[in-house]
Amino acid sequence: MLLSRRHLIAGAAASLALPHGIAAQARNYDLTPSEVAEGIWMIEGRREVFTRENGGDIVNIALVATGAGAVVVDTGSTAAMGAAIRAFADQKLGGVNAVINTHHHPDHWFGNAGFADAPLLALPETAQLCGQYEQDFARSLYAILGSWMSGTQGIPATGIVQAGSRDFGGRSLRLIPLAGHTSADLALLDERTGTLIAGDLVFLDRAPSLPDADFATWLAALDRLSALAPSATLPGHGPFDRDGAGFAQTRAYLAATRDRLAMAADLGLTPVEAMAAGPVPEFATLGANPEEFLRSVVRRWSDQEKLALPVIGGA
Ligand SMILES: [Zn+2]
Repeated sequence: MLLSRRHLIAGAAASLALPHGIAAQARNYDLTPSEVAEGIWMIEGRREVFTRENGGDIVNIALVATGAGAVVVDTGSTAAMGAAIRAFADQKLGGVNAVINTHHHPDHWFGNAGFADAPLLALPETAQLCGQYEQDFARSLYAILGSWMSGTQGIPATGIVQAGSRDFGGRSLRLIPLAGHTSADLALLDERTGTLIAGDLVFLDRAPSLPDADFATWLAALDRLSALAPSATLPGHGPFDRDGAGFAQTRAYLAATRDRLAMAADLGLTPVEAMAAGPVPEFATLGANPEEFLRSVVRRWSDQEKLALPVIGGA
């Protein structure tokens, strides 16, 4: 029996239609903010990579209460996640004073749509990278997260932050531009409590994400941050850190992973063989591993090849 193209399309459309009610169901994020220091609220993401199950609820959000609404540091992966964070700020913290994106990875700013009426701030290079990669990130996230992404469009920051202390509603935050996790990473120190909001320069009990990493620069940034002797650290991913474990673990992970990649290149392994060898055993059971290690091999492999190859003349 021959079917026309029209029949095929009609049949495909029918099979895609959902039973009444399901299509209208909103996806809800079950966010549970907790006050980790005086006036500092943390929404802890799952220690996972993006999946259809977690909807991108994989990143930590910080809300700093001020006399004029909350400073929201990072906004999550989707418009709906941003809206859920926004609802908490409106209901409990007197609204939103400003939004600050720590860096351009999409789990940190694709929720900006929920805050379009507030100042959206970032380092200049971060804002530029957000604009540059918005389409690529959106394509990937729609493919992975599906309906969680409904209505989501990445809105890059339009306001610029610089190094130094800045007053937000009577509360002073020290803005610390660094790099290493990406080429532009912002950390913030709350001068009232000494709490460091580290963005993805610090991970704890979750494998660091290395696709845009520069190991030496990142390690130097960790030295700068630990020299501040913060009273506690709110990492980009993982639990609130009251004893500096995040600094130590992130340093150890970076050094060990760098060495593992270098050794694989020295041995002449192919990337597939390096992936098959797996992450450093000590870190194999961290949240988001082995997925993050596999991404590291794919994205950081060329660094190691360059280091392992002999220099053959040239300028
Ligand atoms: Zn990141």
